[in-house]
Amino acid sequence: QHQQKVEANILVLGAENVGKSALTVRFLTRRFIGEYVGTESIYTHNIMVDGRETFFSIWDSVCPQNPNLQTCVTDEQLRWGDGFILVYSICDRESFNVVRQQLQRIRQLKKRQGSAPVIIVGNKRDLQHRREISSEEGRLLAIGSDCDFFEISAAETYHGSLVVFHQLLESVRENRSAS
Ligand code: GDP
Ligand code: MG
Repeated sequence: QHQQKVEANILVLGAENVGKSALTVRFLTRRFIGEYVGTESIYTHNIMVDGRETFFSIWDSVCPQNPNLQTCVTDEQLRWGDGFILVYSICDRESFNVVRQQLQRIRQLKKRQGSAPVIIVGNKRDLQHRREISSEEGRLLAIGSDCDFFEISAAETYHGSLVVFHQLLESVRENRSAS
């Protein structure tokens, strides 16, 4: 009997209300439903990457309401994740600061345990009139810490979510074959 082997654990992180669940559900179902339950969820999914079927898990995390920024990423989450998606909202400065802190935590811990690919996602690109973080600022944070960067709107398109997850799975695979 064919055993489904999970090849990668992907952790979706970021402040509350930035669209972590919207991004995850958009990728899994191609749909945007608008309101999401605020509970932790781990999904298993498979897609074709470079002509190969790839099984992986996605942990859609929940950030505490008043995040103690240092503990917003737990050691358990850090150990679990092979790749990380850090989401902020382009119209929420505080959420960008959360991503900055979480990035530091990941880089600290994973320096010791071998590196792990990280993608920074600026979500809610449709809300241009409320933008607080320029694309340039997002890109600079990513470049400075060797991450990929995308601005997307989970509300408006499926494509952005697809690109984010595909890119991260490819990076996890490359990272693995390099070490
Ligand atoms: P989470 O707490 O990070 O999981 O955020 P949710 O996925 O629950 O989304 C929080 C709110 O933002 C919900 O009301 C969503 O409908 C909304 N939202 C998520 N993504 C977008 C987006 O790309 N654009 C807009 N305008 N709203 C979004
Ligand atoms: Mg959520």
